[in-house]
Amino acid sequence: MKPVIGITPSGTRDTFPHGTFDRYALATTYLNAVQAAGGIPIILPPQPGPVDAVLSRIDGLLLSGGADIDPARYGDAIVHPETYGIDPLRDEFELTLVHEALDRDLPVLCICRGIQLLNVALGGTLYQHVPDQFSSELSHRQQALGIPSSEPSHTVRAEPGSMLEAIYGSSIIHANSFHHQAIKGLASPLRIEGRTGDGLIEAVSLPGQLFVFGVQWHPEMMFHCHAEHLRPFEHFVTAATRRLLAPAHH
Ligand code: MN
Repeated sequence: MKPVIGITPSGTRDTFPHGTFDRYALATTYLNAVQAAGGIPIILPPQPGPVDAVLSRIDGLLLSGGADIDPARYGDAIVHPETYGIDPLRDEFELTLVHEALDRDLPVLCICRGIQLLNVALGGTLYQHVPDQFSSELSHRQQALGIPSSEPSHTVRAEPGSMLEAIYGSSIIHANSFHHQAIKGLASPLRIEGRTGDGLIEAVSLPGQLFVFGVQWHPEMMFHCHAEHLRPFEHFVTAATRRLLAPAHH
């Protein structure tokens, strides 16, 4: 039996001949990666209220990329001018989902905004705008360099003996980079899995759980050209399958 993987989308406002509408969108690359790894993707639109009825129907949770988390969520009173796209309903929904998913030991894969959300959920903080707030010789926005999304623009060095190293089968990961925010203060329960050469944290895990893993890059945009980037999805879907087949869970 294939596991069902719930994926959170991003809000968009789109204009058509018949009007302008607020909608939710998810890049098909996420769906393709989950399907290629053997899972059944479903999209979870943000909604208020309890999430147990949502979580009881999925076997794994994928927090996708997107716009910025409200800095008030991690104690920053001042919103940086480059911070954009704050969506209070999405923040609330995803924070509630991740807390309850951890309580249930549901496998969680966190991508880009997702790794930031996981860190904030567990008490960590973010750089609101890396180019202003973190000294680096690297560009973390490869769109400015004209590098295609399927191609790497920097390397991530996995911690020795880390889950990241085991997943990729290598201590050096060639990763793409499309973010202007990043983990600043790491939430104390999280473990650093890998960093870029400038020292930014780009991968984390949560010890003691079946599978909770986050990356700052976008493997779903790369796996069709660089097969090793399917491995995070394979490990995630394998964990979701294991949980699905376990004799008792709620
Ligand atoms: Mn980066």
